[in-house]
Amino acid sequence: MSDQIRVRFAPSPTGYLHLGSGRTALFNWLYARRTGGKFIIRIEDTDRERSKKEFLDEILEDLKWLGLDWDEGPFFQSERNELYRQAAEKLVDKGVAYREGNAIIFKVQAGRTIKIPDIIHGDIEFKTDEIKDQVLIKSDGSPAYNFSCVVDDDLMGITHIIRGDDHISNTPKQILFYEALGLKQPRFAHMPLMMGKDGAKLSKRHGGVSVTEYKEEGFLPEALTNYLILLGWSPKNGREILTLKEAAQEFDV
Ligand code: GLU
Repeated sequence: MSDQIRVRFAPSPTGYLHLGSGRTALFNWLYARRTGGKFIIRIEDTDRERSKKEFLDEILEDLKWLGLDWDEGPFFQSERNELYRQAAEKLVDKGVAYREGNAIIFKVQAGRTIKIPDIIHGDIEFKTDEIKDQVLIKSDGSPAYNFSCVVDDDLMGITHIIRGDDHISNTPKQILFYEALGLKQPRFAHMPLMMGKDGAKLSKRHGGVSVTEYKEEGFLPEALTNYLILLGWSPKNGREILTLKEAAQEFDV
């Protein structure tokens, strides 16, 4: 196998494409394009109740509008329950997971320190004493996010997970699953979230938060991606106006 970079954007179709998620997609895309790697779309639609076709369509439309094309997918987690179940059964057989009715639960060993070697933050440590036993498969047969995420990131050969800081607390749980399943861990890069002027996470009360809203207000996609690129990265010569193509020649995590 070559050491080709494989990154993914994994939205849940339970709402519109948030500007912050658009930026996450953008940075993954830039990294894939800069390195000659692959950019993969995975739809995390395991919550059947909240996942909606109109959100899915809007998210994919918005990605295209931004100019972010993908190489593989979209893959749908809702079609992959069997794979998550098999992986969970493996852990039951190993004695590191147990059943509670129809649910499968992972037993977290106390007294350990889990280290996330994060490309952006450096090492982040978590104590397993602070992590409860983890649901792998819920009693309705659907997987818990942390588990399906690991199974899929492995099956899809993801080499780098670039996502928002809001996922840092999920990562030690995911690392426990990589270990228990005997899988190679990808590299992690957690990006600071986009904030409003008041220092709070960007939300409706700060104004437009969905990519669609900007599109409808008449912003050009080139303007929006230019703006998003500079929120967290800048080219070496400090240039402030650049196209996706130009950014993709220089971008680095
Ligand atoms: N579905 C998750 C989200 O929308 C993806 C998280 C991840 O990138 O692992 O936040």
